[in-house]
Formats: sequence, structure tokens, C-alpha cells
Amino acid sequence: MKVVLDTKTHTCTVTREASDPKYRDGGWGNAESRLLYHVQQELKKQGHDIIKKRMWKDGHLMDDLQQYLRTRNAKSKRPHVYVWDTEWAISSSADEFNTNGTVTFKVETNVFNEPPKDEDGMIICPKCQTRSFEEKVEPAGDRTGLYCANCGKWIKWITKV
Ligand SMILES: [Zn+2]
Repeated sequence: MKVVLDTKTHTCTVTREASDPKYRDGGWGNAESRLLYHVQQELKKQGHDIIKKRMWKDGHLMDDLQQYLRTRNAKSKRPHVYVWDTEWAISSSADEFNTNGTVTFKVETNVFNEPPKDEDGMIICPKCQTRSFEEKVEPAGDRTGLYCANCGKWIKWITKV
């Protein structure tokens, strides 16, 4: 299969290739789960540090069977993503893949709630897109934060005492 993860359009498109099996229930796990497993393996080959989990175990309000792919943790190489089927309750992504030869998953980016960065890895203010920041010690004096120099939005803690 060909897997294209695009963080700009927030899509992960999976296209069948001649060597791909049809994904059906039975054997180990259900068809969806196996399809996701193979998408996971492809993304790993592309350098993503990605795991497959049940969404409810991560606290998402989803049917307890729905699974998704997720970047392992905040220390993993970027982008930090969730890859999931928005129509899980309505139609099976495995059926769609089997029938149409392609299926598109939704991609959520920046999932560990860190400030966004530009292509050079520089932090961008999520509120006003400014790239200049200042450090300020919190009034209580116990920690230093990074704040947007333009709009004053808190970006992240630099030191914790
Ligand atoms: Zn700002």
C-alpha cells in the first residue's frame, strides 16, 4: 500500500497496491485493526515513531473499540499526529479500502499541545504568528516563562523550580 501523510491538508491517504490483501474480519483482530496495523508499519518505514491504540484508553470520547495511530510521545520526531477514521461509526475504512482501493484518514497535528513551529523549527506564537519572544519571571518568582513579545501570550515554561 501507498501511505501519504500530509499535515497541511490533515489527511492520511492510503492507496491499495497489487500486492495488498483485502482486509476482512476474522483471523487475528478485525479488518479495521489490521488495516491500521499495516498503515502503521508504512508510517514507521517513513520514519514516524507511531503506535496503535484504542482511543478511549487515551481519554478520547470514542466507542471503546475504535483504534487510532498516534505519535508515541512528545519526545518523538515531529510531526506529532493522531491518524483516525472520522466515519468509524458509519462505515468501515477496511471496506472502503477493499472496494475503492483508497481510504483517507483524518490527521490531527501538534497533538501534545506544544507551541507550533515553522519549517526551520522556530517557535511561532499560536495567537498572532509573531516569532519574537521574551522571558518573564512569574510574579510568584518561582518559574520563568516564554511569552510572545507582541501579544503577550504565554508560550511555555522555560524553567521550573
Ligand atoms: Zn503573539
